[in-house]
Amino acid sequence: MKIKRVDVFPLVYEEPNDDNAVRSITLVRIEAGDGIVGWGECIAQFPESSAAVAAMLTSGLTEAVIGFDPLEIDVIIDMLFQRTWWYGDVGGTAYFAISALDMALWDLKGKILGVPLYQLLGGKRHEKLPACASTHPKLPTLDAMAEELAAHIRNGYRLVKVGFGKKGQANLGVDEARDLDFVSTVRAAIGDEAGFIVDAGFKSKWDIPRAVRFAHHAAEHRLTWLEDPFPPRDIAAYRTLRAAVPEVPIATGERFWTLEDYQQLCEARVCDVILADPGRVKGVTGMQRIVQLAAQYSVGMDAHTWSSAINTAASIHVSLCAARPTIFELKPKQNPMQHELVTNPIGHRDGYIYAPEGAGLGVEVIEKVVEKYRMR
Ligand SMILES: [Mg+2]
Repeated sequence: MKIKRVDVFPLVYEEPNDDNAVRSITLVRIEAGDGIVGWGECIAQFPESSAAVAAMLTSGLTEAVIGFDPLEIDVIIDMLFQRTWWYGDVGGTAYFAISALDMALWDLKGKILGVPLYQLLGGKRHEKLPACASTHPKLPTLDAMAEELAAHIRNGYRLVKVGFGKKGQANLGVDEARDLDFVSTVRAAIGDEAGFIVDAGFKSKWDIPRAVRFAHHAAEHRLTWLEDPFPPRDIAAYRTLRAAVPEVPIATGERFWTLEDYQQLCEARVCDVILADPGRVKGVTGMQRIVQLAAQYSVGMDAHTWSSAINTAASIHVSLCAARPTIFELKPKQNPMQHELVTNPIGHRDGYIYAPEGAGLGVEVIEKVVEKYRMR
């Protein structure tokens, strides 16, 4: 059997979980000779990036995979890397393009063989993972935000994750005293049992003393982990924070691309959990190698997946097969890329995430919805 056809769909949509901000992804649809189809996604995030990935794919990369045996994924990915060596060996747009193709190939392979992706990856080491409501609060008061987060726990989520420095009126990550109040207020609202993660994120410009003060307060309120308090390559800052407040686990890594990036991060021994997104790190193939690396260094992993159900499904399969997964994040509000794009949206069951059943990724994409959100 050969790959017959590859189609590319840059999509644009409003994300209700991000104050209706415009977000973008690029989907790839690969069709084998007998009409079986696989879908993949890259999380290009911005319309210009999504359009660039689409142009790169349609100007050469999709043509290059036609005629290959879709079961021989490593052979295809090696070929793509040889083509993109000049501009793609450190990450960036080529990584996005290959991520989408790789994910679609794994979906296709599972569908051709009639088995779920977790079986292709060697089998589940875990049946389920605790579900985390992954949020960007936007309400203006601490009480209102805490109540919204508590509602997610009442609705069955085991943890809440809060992105600081996001859109809307939340204004988190800016005023230090208010941030500390936020942590206390949320802990009181969600109760002692619930997990609670703070993602300081790209826009919170903290120095080391401020991060240390925050981490001390977070330790008192049993934060599950503190994510990205510094830019990811500022290893010295991470090392200082970790030495000062060892009680608070540290997570980082979502902005890295290559296996070498993750190797350096693991060797630095500055974090407890690494984040990776299959729509960025070279698909299922790349993510699987990263989670194996994490296990080798006794580091936990958390899938950074906050885009479509295709990416979510791929992330669940890889996470359940990993040796040291931690939790699984879902966007809690109804949204087009999770709930409209596929016939069988992914949700938690009693606070846990299970593998989607069915061949390949286990989600069925609705092509009419792909067309609806296609970038014009
Ligand atoms: Mg994050």
